[in-house]
Amino acid sequence: MKILIVEDEEGLREALIRTLEGEGYLTDGAKDGEEGYSMICTGLYDLVLLDIMLPVYDGLEVLRRIRNQSIDVPVILLTARSTVEDKVGGMDLGADDYLTKPFAMPELLARIRMVARRSTGGVTDTRFRTGDLILDPGTFTLSCTCGSRTVRLGAKEYQLMEYMMRNAGQVLSREQITQRVWGYDSDSEYNNVDVYVSFLRKKIGFVQSDTRIRSVRGIGYELEAPGE
Ligand code: CA
Repeated sequence: MKILIVEDEEGLREALIRTLEGEGYLTDGAKDGEEGYSMICTGLYDLVLLDIMLPVYDGLEVLRRIRNQSIDVPVILLTARSTVEDKVGGMDLGADDYLTKPFAMPELLARIRMVARRSTGGVTDTRFRTGDLILDPGTFTLSCTCGSRTVRLGAKEYQLMEYMMRNAGQVLSREQITQRVWGYDSDSEYNNVDVYVSFLRKKIGFVQSDTRIRSVRGIGYELEAPGE
């Protein structure tokens, strides 16, 4: 799961990034409403933490713009203001939750888990499935409905596998994968993607799944389950 933090206070933004990365989330930061808005429009994020008091456009304006474009990424508003009008205004614009500063990190983590669960339709089984392949975000393990073998994935392997399963049946370019897994400003080479795909193919083979990562020449990769 990848989270965008739109927060102009650098200290808080960095603290949020450290905490969330420590919990196994991928993160990027944006320092104002304009940067946050354009990053949200890339479609790379599964959840956005959006401060209300921001330079350029404020958080409510960012929210209004993305909802007007039918971008339905879950948004948790962060604000120092705790007026009822702000809260109602934010929820009316399509925020999923609202947190008043200062907040405790465990409270934020609980809200993130709740919003993430709600966006998967309240399903308590949060495992990802493609064909016979199962990815468990609680244990970072890959398994197959066909057998009993389980294999643990490294952090980047897990993020790559999750991204491919969220987009199964779609071709993902090396550039999209690099931005998503290694970060928006990443200077890592695209060949990281090839290396990690080869690790995942070995692990998918190990659990004896029929789901395959297909190479799409000159573009990237597609996760493909037989018959789907
Ligand atoms: Ca602020």
